[in-house]
Amino acid sequence: MLFFVFRCKVKIETGKSSSSLKKLNKKAMNRKPFTIADEVLSFLRDGGNVFDLNYRDFINRSMTIDEMRIIFKKRKAIWERQGEPCAEQPHAILSNPEFHSNGVIYTEEVLKYPALCEIFAEEIVKKFFAEEFTEQKDLSFTKKSIDTIVSYSPYLGSEVARIIKKRFNHEVAFVLAEQGEAGGPVKLSAKIDNGKVLIVQDLIPNGSGIISELKKAILKQNPSVEILKHAYVLVHRTNAPTDNPLIVCFQLNIKNVLYYECPDCKNGSKGLIAQEGNNINILNGIK
Ligand SMILES: [Zn+2]
Repeated sequence: MLFFVFRCKVKIETGKSSSSLKKLNKKAMNRKPFTIADEVLSFLRDGGNVFDLNYRDFINRSMTIDEMRIIFKKRKAIWERQGEPCAEQPHAILSNPEFHSNGVIYTEEVLKYPALCEIFAEEIVKKFFAEEFTEQKDLSFTKKSIDTIVSYSPYLGSEVARIIKKRFNHEVAFVLAEQGEAGGPVKLSAKIDNGKVLIVQDLIPNGSGIISELKKAILKQNPSVEILKHAYVLVHRTNAPTDNPLIVCFQLNIKNVLYYECPDCKNGSKGLIAQEGNNINILNGIK
């Protein structure tokens, strides 16, 4: 709440010199971190700016799915239908228009901002440390450090590498993966050195086939590497079972259906191409 007061002050005093504004902004940035999810949620619901958050607001705990949803909503990066299909509420047509859906999520629309990417990369790192280092005083800790992070996400992958490098005080490489065109093999942006490889992914859209393809590409390039058992995933879009072991930060329950089986269309709901124009706001009931 104290922070909100500072923000108001900045708005009111826009006639001040830039040095005064800098001081006010500095004061705002020096606020005490939020300690619980309710504080973050109230701040954002009261009109707070997502860019005034930082990873310290989520320290010593995992971000809740409600916090993730409100941050994504503020960046127009998520819509999930509430309730049953009905004529009054539109639904989404996906980028492949054969498929209609009761939800959409665009992780890169959030992760493209370094401040938000840092917050979400910290969520992956928390999961990684909780899973791989259950004993906090494990003396072999540093020996277990990883050598390379591979990801399809340029933002999340490189940020996780940066944070883990800092924590381990040990150099960590980042290699970007790119899906092959028309089902072709996955391309890797650089050579993967021997050692331990961690796979980080921003989104599992529908099934974990992309992780299988990635593992194949890594081992084809360098059969000597050790890929960690679990891939670490920020958002799993559907709750369909997967062939690959995943550690997921945020599990959603979005469904894709073929257009001729779409329950929303059958109930008279209008389909909107979610990525076009203002449609994400229309889906969210925002004018
Ligand atoms: Zn439909």
